[in-house]
Amino acid sequence: MAQVYHEAARDIPVYAECDILVVGAGAAGQAAAVAAARAGAKNIILMERYGYMGGDATGGYVLMLPNLTWRNKAFVSGIQEEWFIRCEKQFPGTTAAPSIDEAGSTDPALLYRWKAYHDCVSRGTFGGCKESMLVRAPYFDPQYMRIVLDQMVYEERDRIQLMYHTWGVRPIIEDKTIKGVIFESKEGRKAILAKQVIDATGDGDIYSQSGAAYQSLADAVCRSSTTALVYRVGGIDWNQFFEWQQNHPDAAAGFREGIKKVAGFRISPISGNSPDVCWMNNWHTDRDCTVIKDQTYTEVTTRLAIPRVIEYMKEAVPTAFRHAFLYDIAPQLGTRCSRRLQGEYIMTTNDFAFAKKHDDVIAWHSTICQINDCGPVEIPLGAIMAKGCENLLAPGRHLSTDNIAIDWLNLIPQCTGTGQGAGVAAAVAAMEGTDIHHVNIKRVQDILAGEQGVPLPRNEHTDKSYTELCEEFQYGLYTDAAKKAAAEGEKYTKTFRQDHNYKTGENESAKN
Ligand SMILES: Cc1cc2nc3c(=O)[nH]c(=O)nc-3n(C[C@H](O)[C@H](O)[C@H](O)COP(=O)(O)OP(=O)(O)OC[C@H]3O[C@@H](n4cnc5c(N)ncnc54)[C@H](O)[C@@H]3O)c2cc1C
Repeated sequence: MAQVYHEAARDIPVYAECDILVVGAGAAGQAAAVAAARAGAKNIILMERYGYMGGDATGGYVLMLPNLTWRNKAFVSGIQEEWFIRCEKQFPGTTAAPSIDEAGSTDPALLYRWKAYHDCVSRGTFGGCKESMLVRAPYFDPQYMRIVLDQMVYEERDRIQLMYHTWGVRPIIEDKTIKGVIFESKEGRKAILAKQVIDATGDGDIYSQSGAAYQSLADAVCRSSTTALVYRVGGIDWNQFFEWQQNHPDAAAGFREGIKKVAGFRISPISGNSPDVCWMNNWHTDRDCTVIKDQTYTEVTTRLAIPRVIEYMKEAVPTAFRHAFLYDIAPQLGTRCSRRLQGEYIMTTNDFAFAKKHDDVIAWHSTICQINDCGPVEIPLGAIMAKGCENLLAPGRHLSTDNIAIDWLNLIPQCTGTGQGAGVAAAVAAMEGTDIHHVNIKRVQDILAGEQGVPLPRNEHTDKSYTELCEEFQYGLYTDAAKKAAAEGEKYTKTFRQDHNYKTGENESAKN
């Protein structure tokens, strides 16, 4: 048995009591706190271990969001869309994306204009889908986005108490119900008591100690089980790079192999919000972002390779990268996935392959899943609701899925969307005095779809044209892949990983 040290029990001060405590202010946590405040909750605390909001999105330099639209409709809307409206209005040029009005367009001039931006033009060759069309997939500057996220919370300062530099370390559990969270900070170890707790740490830091069912990374080898340290390269000409790839496909394939060889791990430049900067996405396979040695490995290995990688880029494509330089390195580790909740509902491939309907739907999102041509999928409250612990929700990249569906649901839009749903659900439960398992789901959905502008199926506040579009295109299930899924059912789910070479993380859908 490993050596142990007995830590003595002690009394600690109660720092505050609140209605809703959100731990972690990434895409999910920020949205949860703002949505709860706008839904009418009054006493909310938002706790974050760093000094800014956005998590992976603004601190991990994950600088693009795929598929906010499907065909010509904005399925991912609400707080997620607000990020970009606010950012572009106040700081022109800090975001880049086709507009919602342009989404679904097949105009060759527009397709040409956006082709160089990964995922702004649908791939158009998958399954039965033959046409390429424009997709709203925004690129953004992480520093300006941090200002926007601060603003949104600051505007709710009468309702949200923001606590930076505080680290939630342990849930307080009584009778299988969460009653609050213990945190550490420069002020020491203290407790916050809460009626509803939202674990938005991305790594299930709170639910993994609460008695709730969850799975750890060790049970899965998928795209999400890779770590990264993103950095940005400036002084480049992205359009030149794109043209070069189009005109020299063999050399481009050689570049992809070469850069990987030079780095020692898979790495790829991705366009930024401006053509003179790109971000370097990377994938360290079979690493767990909650394990110290994997975290340290990722930081050091990536940084040590930076000079080699930039030198290689300059030599390989001088027309685009001659003046390339290291612009900056993300201040935090890139964490795709670690623990996954096994909640009241577990999302699987079947949710995508059969357009499953859920009475407790809180988000209806177009995603990167190509089984259904990226068509909208219903995410229920049950997929963020802890099983085995009352009053605990877990939106974001650690939500309840199997080890395949996680690759389509840990994207920023789905984290923000489930965060917004969590915030409204917690607010309704706190205001009506119910526990979260008995929350008035109709009221939650009406607030989301009515006041907060989130499209939801079968809700009178959502324009009928959303459902009509889905029906016209069979929820994206006319593709060959979907037909195969429908014919083979569960077997398809089981073979999906082998088909897509998940072991190496190098499948087509591993682009993000
Ligand atoms: C390299 C990389 C590339 C990716 N590419 C894409 C892409 O192109 N597009 C896309 O949409 N998605 C992409 N993803 C996935 C996406 O970025 C994340 O899944 C998403 O941003 C996670 O949001 P979240 O709010 O759930 O978690 P996080 O962003 O991890 O936020 C969690 C927050 O909680 C805080 N926190 C954690 N633990 C504690 C604690 N104990 N106490 C207090 N605070 C805590 C963290 O500091 C953080 O702010 C990528 C991810 C990576 C790493």
